Amino acid sequence: MKTLSDINSLTNKLKKINYLQVEKNKSLAEFASFKVGGPADLFLTPEKVSALKELMPLIVNSNIPYFILGKGSNLIISDKGYRGIIIYTGSLNHYQVEARQITAECGLELKEIADLAYKNSLGGFEFAAGIPGSLGGALYMNAGAYGGEMKDVIVKAQFINQRGKLIELNKSELKLEYRTSILQKEDPDWAAVNVTIELKRSEKKLIKAKMDELHNKRWSKQPMELPSAGSIFKRPPGHYTGPLIEKAKMKGFQIGGAQVSTKHAGFIVNKGNATAEDIVNLIEKVKAEVYKISGVQLEVEPRFLGEF
Ligand SMILES: Cc1cc2nc3c(=O)[nH]c(=O)nc-3n(C[C@H](O)[C@H](O)[C@H](O)COP(=O)(O)OP(=O)(O)OC[C@H]3O[C@@H](n4cnc5c(N)ncnc54)[C@H](O)[C@@H]3O)c2cc1C
Repeated sequence: MKTLSDINSLTNKLKKINYLQVEKNKSLAEFASFKVGGPADLFLTPEKVSALKELMPLIVNSNIPYFILGKGSNLIISDKGYRGIIIYTGSLNHYQVEARQITAECGLELKEIADLAYKNSLGGFEFAAGIPGSLGGALYMNAGAYGGEMKDVIVKAQFINQRGKLIELNKSELKLEYRTSILQKEDPDWAAVNVTIELKRSEKKLIKAKMDELHNKRWSKQPMELPSAGSIFKRPPGHYTGPLIEKAKMKGFQIGGAQVSTKHAGFIVNKGNATAEDIVNLIEKVKAEVYKISGVQLEVEPRFLGEF
């Protein structure tokens, strides 16, 4: 159990690091696409990779738990918040384009990378343009949509390990599979800092047409107008979650401010005043009903952060 004085002493050390913002008791709800979540004890925003290199060994030695936060679009954050340190990657967003490769820092959003690809007449990233989230989060999750996934385009990635050292892994070492990667499977607690993707030459009008088509598909089928964390369950082999949930008569079912979307049953949405507890209770109810009706065990896709 860490005390307030442990956190204060670490805070003083962290404040000496250049290009690092240090904040205490920061509400996390605004950093989560679900718009729920209590405060974090410490909230760190490195503005350069050098700051991340310096802070990692300090916080690892302090033994205070830490969590790397991208755009919070695949998270359910506890109403009680997080007793530990959040490292927010939102200010790590430099990039460079060389021939057919884009190398970007992990805080850059997928839609920004898709724009960059379009401006450089590079095709093959259209699938990711509408996936909310950062490049680091997309690597962690091997995010994908409409037949494409990060695995198709990633060449290599760089990480900062717990000792503050830079590590580079190539595509096969990243162990990218359906909605998972080495970061999830082996949980090395590294921070991804740079990812290189390789695309193919294409024509701007074709890229734009594909992005528009997928955008319209997404907005017509998914509840993009309400806070959520995207698909709430992983697709079980041989099934689609939406129809399974509809069969269990859970579409539109609501607990507190959390509702199984009436537009797409595979999403849980925040109707405005949901708590994380409402969301978790609704997830459990849906899982139980689907299991009862179809015998399928649903697995939650977003990560949980904090105490539940
Ligand atoms: C409306 C909506 C639609 C969505 N549609 C899709 C979809 O079509 N396909 C899909 O795959 N997903 C979808 N998602 C889910 C989400 O957008 C993706 O999983 C995304 O890749 C998460 O990225 P993030 O930056 O928000 O990660 P976060 O939610 O911030 O974090 C997710 C995990 O990644 C880890 N992480 C983040 N950055 C780093 C880093 N730099 N280094 C190490 N670990 C890191 C975090 O620690 C955490 O464990 C959707 C979400 C929403 C809200």
